[in-house]
Amino acid sequence: MSAAATVPLSHYGLHWFRRDLRVVGNPALEWSRQRHEGRVLGLFCFDHQFLARPDFSANRFAFFLETLAALRTDLRRLGGDLLVLDVGPRAAFSAVLGALGERGLLLPESISFNRDYEPFARQRDADIAAWLPKTFGVTVHSECDHLLVEPHELRRDGGGFYQIYTPFAKRWFALVRQPHVQARIAAQRAALQQHEAARSTASAGPRFALTWPRVFGGALPLADHLERYRQEHVPRATVPLPAAGFAAARTRLGEFLHNKLTLYAERRDIPAAAGTSQLSIYLKNGSLTSAQILAALGDVPVDFGERDGPTTFLREIAWREFYYHILYHCPQVEHEAFLPRFRQLSWPNREDWFAAWQRGLTGYPIVDAGMRQLQQTGWMHNRVRMIVASFLTKDLLVDWRWGERYFMQQLLDGDLAPNNGGWQWAASTGCDPQPYFRVFNPTLQGRKFDPQGEYIRRYVPELRHLPDKFLHEPAAAGALADYPRPLVDHKRQAALAVALYRQPRGS
Ligand SMILES: Cc1cc2nc3c(=O)[nH]c(=O)nc-3n(C[C@H](O)[C@H](O)[C@H](O)COP(=O)(O)OP(=O)(O)OC[C@H]3O[C@@H](n4cnc5c(N)ncnc54)[C@H](O)[C@@H]3O)c2cc1C
Repeated sequence: MSAAATVPLSHYGLHWFRRDLRVVGNPALEWSRQRHEGRVLGLFCFDHQFLARPDFSANRFAFFLETLAALRTDLRRLGGDLLVLDVGPRAAFSAVLGALGERGLLLPESISFNRDYEPFARQRDADIAAWLPKTFGVTVHSECDHLLVEPHELRRDGGGFYQIYTPFAKRWFALVRQPHVQARIAAQRAALQQHEAARSTASAGPRFALTWPRVFGGALPLADHLERYRQEHVPRATVPLPAAGFAAARTRLGEFLHNKLTLYAERRDIPAAAGTSQLSIYLKNGSLTSAQILAALGDVPVDFGERDGPTTFLREIAWREFYYHILYHCPQVEHEAFLPRFRQLSWPNREDWFAAWQRGLTGYPIVDAGMRQLQQTGWMHNRVRMIVASFLTKDLLVDWRWGERYFMQQLLDGDLAPNNGGWQWAASTGCDPQPYFRVFNPTLQGRKFDPQGEYIRRYVPELRHLPDKFLHEPAAAGALADYPRPLVDHKRQAALAVALYRQPRGS
């Protein structure tokens, strides 16, 4: 037993990690660390029943477990600790605090967490925040982290919420210039600088001063589940998993800012160019946040109207926050169309067409390339996400919720708010939708955004040797032995889609 373990333990905190899986610049963790002079323990819990959810993704789960492992390594390196339990929060807190109580050991004085905005999470957090103080006499403290501007902070002048992206984003940009949001960014800038300085001088020193064995005075009476789950689930990943955790996210952000940001506005729509940040997987788990991105961007003018790389990039960050904002104010979008008039559409839902779309065998090269990129990498370029989503709903006439769920099963960055928002936008059922009578032509989209066919050739090897002029319309070259003819006639299907959306309500 270390010397520290013999000193009686005074007050300490428990930090409940959720979608804030990092140490650097973690507001609620930092609040606890300061309040308890470094004596703060980490807890993560997930209800194992979520593995049976219909939108469960084995690949995303594997990446998430690797993110937790990176977090634990970071915490331990700094003198802290993380316990991972595979039960829901009530059961987890009961197990931990109950075990401490039974042994007559000191309970944490506070429990901290960063706020989450999904409907399920808000309900869970309200329940836990009321239950913990009543049952265990602990203080509960929460902070803003997952979004730069919280949904309740951004309202229209009359008090309602924004349903259209552009006015939302203009207001978001204006708020970003306000002192309270600038303070969040400044805090992240300081945290990032402190982290860089500590790294370069190798002088981080233990910033935390408590471990789970220390609190229990020896071996833990509770089994930690992280390694068991990692051993079982990480080998099951069917796509190469990117490096996980804050350090990997920070490196990717640095590379993006250095190599791609200047040309972002020109290249972000070209799927072959890899001109985007690919930070979505890290934003999803909170290995990195919008505030940290703004902090790292430095002194860029935050002006919605600019057309340069940094501002275009910020407008995309604002899209993410917009969809969180919509989900917060209209939780029903999780299950149904935002627009009431499109809640009863009679989707034909042909299962064989849906299967061909999933497998990248529709006979439309840009669609097939996108679906195969998704299958092979767990990620898809945003322009192609829009094309394949439009194709599924408006060419194949399949309910957007089928596509939304399939994306959740496949995407490493699968995230309810932007995924639901993206699908409802493409299907014209959402807020700020693509008008239903405007249907993406997949052939023209391919020609415009992949003119040399570099992206198509990368993911559809059957077409690799086709001359450029046939690449976007291979059927024009005659029958191909190993590539399907178009599953549907685009013009005909687009007309059917318009008719479907015109159906009288409820018919
Ligand atoms: C049908 C459909 C489904 C989608 N599903 C998801 C999803 O599950 N998870 C997810 O994070 N994004 C989703 N998006 C949004 C977008 O495609 C991804 O965020 C983006 O492709 C991620 O790549 P990136 O990090 O390189 O983006 P960048 O171009 O580098 O953008 C930076 C960040 O801005 C945000 N962002 C960019 N574009 C959008 C957008 N159109 N909507 C909302 N946020 C955006 C992301 O957080 C992204 O990481 C979806 C879009 C569509 C059309």
